[in-house]
Amino acid sequence: MSNQPITDPRPISDDPCPRCGESSMKDPPEINALSRTTRGKDDDPIWVCSDCGRDEAMEDFFALGATHPNFWPMARKYDKVFTVDWDGLESA
Ligand SMILES: [Zn+2]
Repeated sequence: MSNQPITDPRPISDDPCPRCGESSMKDPPEINALSRTTRGKDDDPIWVCSDCGRDEAMEDFFALGATHPNFWPMARKYDKVFTVDWDGLESA
């Protein structure tokens, strides 16, 4: 037995998320979010960052479904839904 700490040998991906263009993808790709636009039986999977996965879920719920990859990169639409401005609440 070695006393060396156990470290994950897999690299952290530097690839930007294809949906938002931010460098927030993780390795392996399967721990990111599978885009809701590529969940069909014959679709090639496209992985997006966790924040975009949540944004696609909000699009599915509040809009007419997740934005097709043809319109990527795009800004996330629902980030503000999850942002609480505590300072603003105190002064309101
Ligand atoms: Zn993203």
